[in-house]
Amino acid sequence: MKRYVAILVCIVLLVTLGACRKDEEQQPAKEVGESIKTEDNFKQYKDKTTDENQVPNNESNNDNTTGEAKMTTTNVKDTENFYGIEFTEDSDIFTRIKGKSYKDDCTVPLSDLRYLHVLHVGFDGQAHEGEIICNKAIAEDLLEIFEQLYEAGYQIEKIKLVDEYNAEDEASMADNNSSCFNFRFISHTTKISNHGKGMAIDINPLYNPYIKTVNGNLNIEPANSTPYVDRAADFPHKIDETDLAYQLFTAHGFSWGGAWTTSKDYQHFEK
Ligand SMILES: [Zn+2]
Repeated sequence: MKRYVAILVCIVLLVTLGACRKDEEQQPAKEVGESIKTEDNFKQYKDKTTDENQVPNNESNNDNTTGEAKMTTTNVKDTENFYGIEFTEDSDIFTRIKGKSYKDDCTVPLSDLRYLHVLHVGFDGQAHEGEIICNKAIAEDLLEIFEQLYEAGYQIEKIKLVDEYNAEDEASMADNNSSCFNFRFISHTTKISNHGKGMAIDINPLYNPYIKTVNGNLNIEPANSTPYVDRAADFPHKIDETDLAYQLFTAHGFSWGGAWTTSKDYQHFEK
């Protein structure tokens, strides 16, 4: 009798283990519906997501349906909330960027770009989902940095694709949107800009403007960032050398536009 019980227990264990493996191999379903913005604050949200079945969802996750595969490089941050996707011309992601940030004359192959999904703490103190397209060469850096910023509660107002602003940098910056890839050549050259290669990212640009003196006149981008030109002034979301984003990006080998000499680009980190 004992032998039958032992065999029965073994069968039950094997069936259970088999079921577990299957769950692990399946990608978690990303259904539209639950919005993380309904959480009272991002800490509650974090607690909630310790349950692996609680996956944040919004419309952007619809993108994961065609033609994309999660990055498989072993060192890539690959968690439920911070992950990168390689995408093709057949994908919904490409449809969103074609003719906008991925212009018709774009010379950067899609295979060099990655779509990143991150979380960030907004100015409302709550967790929000962010989308970034960047060069694969900095995908791991960005995933690590944005996870660390999120864990620290560092506030970034918006992380949307610049395509949501029709790939117009000024409109994106004026709306304080943090973004990375936007293909363009440097004016009057055939050299691709660092944003054009997906190798540069701008953080909270409204509070951290690009400033250059041209013919004695101060050129400020975005134009509505004038209140934040005085970097000796004290105001929130200011990037300087004591700022966590500055520290994380530079620790990952990025250079900061705020250290440039002929112009200042306080929002800008590039590799
Ligand atoms: Zn920039």
